[in-house]
Amino acid sequence: MTDTVLVVNAGSSSIKVELFAADAALTSLLSGQIEAIGLAPRLALRDAAGTTVAEEAWGQGEGPRDHRAALAAIGTALARVAGQHRIVAIGHRVVHGGATLAAPVVIDPAIRAELAALAPLAPLHQPHNLAGIDAMAELHPGVMQVACFDTAFHRGHPWVADTFALPRALWRRGIRRYGFHGLSYAYIAMRLAEVAPEIARGRVVVAHLGNGASMCAIRDGRSIDSTMGFTALDGLPMGTRSGQLDPGVVLHLLTAEGYDAPALTRLLYHESGLKGLSGLSSDMRALERAGTAEAQEAIAYFVYRIRKELGALTAALGGLDALAFTAGIGENSAAIRAAVCEGMGWLGIALDAAANARGETVLSTPASRVRVLRIPTDEERMIALETLRLLRA
Ligand code: ADP
Repeated sequence: MTDTVLVVNAGSSSIKVELFAADAALTSLLSGQIEAIGLAPRLALRDAAGTTVAEEAWGQGEGPRDHRAALAAIGTALARVAGQHRIVAIGHRVVHGGATLAAPVVIDPAIRAELAALAPLAPLHQPHNLAGIDAMAELHPGVMQVACFDTAFHRGHPWVADTFALPRALWRRGIRRYGFHGLSYAYIAMRLAEVAPEIARGRVVVAHLGNGASMCAIRDGRSIDSTMGFTALDGLPMGTRSGQLDPGVVLHLLTAEGYDAPALTRLLYHESGLKGLSGLSSDMRALERAGTAEAQEAIAYFVYRIRKELGALTAALGGLDALAFTAGIGENSAAIRAAVCEGMGWLGIALDAAANARGETVLSTPASRVRVLRIPTDEERMIALETLRLLRA
């Protein structure tokens, strides 16, 4: 029997799980997901070598219909193939920790209630995270469960980076710039200390460019500002999310274009960003391949906004020692990284084209004043690490 930590990341249409050995190396033993919940669900689990050890697919409208059923299905599949492992703790990705939860916490009834009360701040995600917690409590009664928050890493923001210029009463009611992708940024901050210890305490901008995309200004290992604000809609354009928008546009859509709240939610979360601009796809690989004028313009807008935010975050940091790229696009698209760094000599960035094309860890030339890095993120490992830390505390 190996003692293990199970990580559960219950998103809006998929649930990811990963099982780690509960030792110092945190070896990943099994990982997998159930996707397309409520449509035509597919479940797959892989071992450490990448071999599929469990697989199931259902037709349209068949199989697990909701998150509760999907969690039961993946929990059962996991128990079947991981019979020789004993789960000693379960770590959950929870999108919102509100204004007070600034570190991972052990879930007890009071914390469970606090997380439920935060659901209105993240209605598309928090209820699924809670369903994950409840399902695991049922499947593994008595096993310690830990909540790790996407907002926690940003809770030390100075007030000017935490507020909007709205009446103060609204800030007190929780209308604040929380920032997200915190587990990814915490992981990158930790990895920086290993791959570039000389700048880990310096001024770093991390660009987390995936389906969701944001950037974070980190000084001395701590977040001081981020492009995401009250929700994960703000800042950079994303696969299907608009990113930063003049609030007057929202007012106009409501008052003059016949949109109501559900239609606006659909527009801003699911029909905008790269998908809306290209009219083609939310997927960067598809846009890079397509080469249509609209696809190129969508990419150009994405890059433009990253460059602009890089300038803004550098100003917030008072200078820049390193720029790190991570997540699906940041880790894999040499073309996007090159376009972001193009002509940034004034900021001290000199990209090494060959190192960038090969996707090395250090992408800048030896003479570059700013270190440019490519660091793969691993939010699941960060959750496992925090969960194990609380188990041992
Ligand atoms: P999520 O936010 O859902 O975790 P990921 O971090 O997996 O997303 O990023 C998904 C994005 O990464 C997609 O737009 C995908 O096209 C892009 N991507 C993955 N591999 C490449 C690649 N080789 N070149 C360009 N884009 C890539």
